[in-house]
Order: sequence, then C-alpha cells, then structure tokens
Amino acid sequence: MTAEPGNLAGVGRILLVLSGKGGVGKSTVSAELALALRHAGKKVGILDADLCGPSIPRMLRAQGRAVHQCDGGWVPVFVDPEKSIALMSVGFLLEKPDEAVVWRGPKKSALIKQFVRDVAWGPLDYLVVDTPPGTSDEHMATVEALRPYSCLGALVVTTPQAVAVGDVRRELTFCRKAGLQVIGVVENMSGFVCPHCTECTNVFSTGGGEELARHAGVPFLGSVPLDPTLARSLEEGGDFIQDFPKSPAFPALSAIAQKI
Ligand code: ADP
Repeated sequence: MTAEPGNLAGVGRILLVLSGKGGVGKSTVSAELALALRHAGKKVGILDADLCGPSIPRMLRAQGRAVHQCDGGWVPVFVDPEKSIALMSVGFLLEKPDEAVVWRGPKKSALIKQFVRDVAWGPLDYLVVDTPPGTSDEHMATVEALRPYSCLGALVVTTPQAVAVGDVRRELTFCRKAGLQVIGVVENMSGFVCPHCTECTNVFSTGGGEELARHAGVPFLGSVPLDPTLARSLEEGGDFIQDFPKSPAFPALSAIAQKI
C-alpha cells in the first residue's frame, strides 16, 4: 500500500537501487532483478531515472521504442510480449539514443518528478528504480519524490573494491539521514564462475559486502558473480531476456528476489 494515491497507488513495493558510485553494476542489477522477479511470476516496472546514462533500454533491447500519452499519463514501454515488464526511461524521450542529456539540475529534477507522478504504471508487484549515481541533483530529486511512499525500500549495490573506498558506506549514511528503509546490500561482480569447470574465482577481494552490511546493521541479500554470458549478451547484441536464465547470475538473483 502506498501512502498517497496517484499513478503509484497500484504498486506493491518500490525498490530504489542505489550505489555509491557509477560502474558497479547498478543498472545491470536493476535489470537482472526485474528479470528474476518476472521469472518468479511477478509483474514488474522499471523506472530508469539515470538521466545521464540511461542504459536499461539497451540492456532490455527496447531502444528506439516510443512512449505514448493516455488520459492517465505516459504509457510505459512493455519490453516482453507477455507485458510483464514495463519500462520508462529518458532514453525514450531523446531523438537519438546516444544523445546526452545536457540539462541543468532543475530541469532534470522536474523530469524525475514527472516520471514519478505521470507514468501510468497500472498494477505492479514491484517498481524497480535505477537511480542516478552519487549525490547529484537527480539523485536527491528521485529520493525526495519517492520518500512519501510507505512501500519504498533501498537496495544498495556494491562491488568488493567499492567497499574498500568507502563510497557505499557514505551511501548507507545517506539512507539513514534521508530516513530510507534499507532492504539490504547486494555485492556485484564478486567472483567469476568458469564456464568450463564451474569453479568460482574471486577476482577481487571477497566478503566485503557482507561485512559492510553487518557493520551497518542491515541485511546482506547476496552476491552476484561476474557473468560473461550477460556481458557478452550486452556487447554483442544477444537477447538479454532469453539469455538471463542460462547465466550464472540467475540463481543468485533469484535468491535475492525471494528476499525483497
Ligand atoms: P552502473 O549502473 O553502476 O554505472 P552498469 O550496470 O552500467 O553500472 O555496469 C557497468 C558495466 O559492467 C556494464 O558494461 C555491465 O555490462 C558490466 N557488468 C555489471 N555487472 C556485471 C556482472 N555481474 N557480470 C558481468 N558484467 C557486469
């Protein structure tokens, strides 16, 4: 149940996916988590609020699609034929997909508010929000716009190295100060599963995400391995949705999806 009516009234749970810095796999985890939830039979929306690097349409093979207006607001793009994943992204509003959003802060914040207020999501089990990184204006605007909703929870993504530089610690402090409920910490790229012998090699340090969660007194939700299947699928234009269940990340993300 949400605290306010409006276009998010039919959303069961809002997952705010955060990271201390870019490049740790926030967008990848947002997209994969949405797919894992869909495989568990849930209806999912993804709000790609990363205005300066909207990568979810490319990841879900939805580039070039258009959003339409209806009486209730913007109709999101459905990325699968079953219409179980709805997506809204600034990428759908740009004339060229690789165009950069070079707006000033207030204009970006206004668009975020519009995304939260004006997208006609309909009933959803989960709305996954891929947030802009760091403490940018858009990041703050996303948190501000969603804070009134009681079904909101934050999911913090880290890599083992990011833990070392303390970015995630700062993000968790930000959540506490902003009064956000932290659902838990996810450690991404935490090991490489060999596709030939299935042995897991810890390329970076290991266990940092779990230790960080314990230190902050929040749940540790699990580790997602470095996943060559998905990395290749993204680079070579494979079908991310089709390839997802074959990937080593699938069991890890499915287990995380059951905890949120
Ligand atoms: P962020 O949203 O934090 O900036 P991205 O999700 O865009 O990061 O990820 C950065 C890069 O790392 C992308 O090229 C993505 O494909 C790759 N990547 C992220 N997580 C994984 C993973 N678990 N396995 C393989 N590649 C990954």
